[in-house]
Amino acid sequence: MTAPMPSVDRAAASRAAVAARRARAAVKESVRVGERTALEVAEAAGRDADLPEAGMRVAELLGTLRGLGPTRVADTLETLGISPVKKLGGLGHRQRARLLDWLRAREGGSGRGRLVVLAGPTAVGKGTVSTFIREHHPDVLLSISATTRAPRPGEQDGVHYYFVDDAGFDGLIERGELLEWAVVHNASRYGTPRPPVEAALAAGRSVLLEIDLAGARQVRAAMPDAVLVFLLPPSWEELVRRLVGRGTESPEEQARRLETARVELAAQDEFDELVVNDDVRRAAQEVVDLLAVPSGGARPAGRAGSAR
Ligand code: 5GP
Repeated sequence: MTAPMPSVDRAAASRAAVAARRARAAVKESVRVGERTALEVAEAAGRDADLPEAGMRVAELLGTLRGLGPTRVADTLETLGISPVKKLGGLGHRQRARLLDWLRAREGGSGRGRLVVLAGPTAVGKGTVSTFIREHHPDVLLSISATTRAPRPGEQDGVHYYFVDDAGFDGLIERGELLEWAVVHNASRYGTPRPPVEAALAAGRSVLLEIDLAGARQVRAAMPDAVLVFLLPPSWEELVRRLVGRGTESPEEQARRLETARVELAAQDEFDELVVNDDVRRAAQEVVDLLAVPSGGARPAGRAGSAR
């Protein structure tokens, strides 16, 4: 049996552990605010195993990157063949090479625009946020969906939607011209035309899709580089207030809408970024920051205001 460690050593060891944790937190913060790139941190960890960088988990480093929520961090680690508990200093030669290549590709930018998907529960204000972006950021392409629903008064074909009939929508699906599509509110079909999105991204222009949850999931599968943003209400009470509105719906209809919102809110963990819609201008700015293409590692600062 080994003798118990003298208490003075235990105290020293625990002080050292606290200091190491603090040092790792400082490294993470420097990446998060854009002072250093994740690539620089991973390279430093490879050079010197005594640095705090080497004691950081790869998952922690990836988690500091914009647009990488827990689901995408897990997917990326799987793609790279790196265990979720692996530390930067403990990577094998091939694992390190794969991680560095991945970070280089991401930070170097590919010359392509960013695809950002904006989704969220009913009545959270997705339309208001995307309209604000359309009006203030003409550099961003706000995709125009095709739909089988009838135009509302004031809506123009080719501006708000491409209004098509069922046969027209079938044709778009058959020709593979939709990036995603879904039946929304158990009523009409809505879909994102693929060619304008592909063309804009290839030309380096960023694209925003304002679509429902089912559509967001399809985009994630079709375009793994897309950043999925979930717009949240400031509070559940505020969402109830916005949903129930002027009280023109029956209690049954109100209950149905609230149940839908509850189910939709439960999907937020699948998303890369959470943005709280407490103020349209601020929420829109957060989404615009996410649309910015990273260049040479410099990213828009921080995740201030995001709920994650
Ligand atoms: P509205 O009929 O009120 O214009 O839109 C109803 C819902 O359809 C919105 O919540 C919007 O997010 C969703 N939607 C609009 N365009 C698309 C699309 O192209 N694909 C999917 N999946 N949903 C869409």
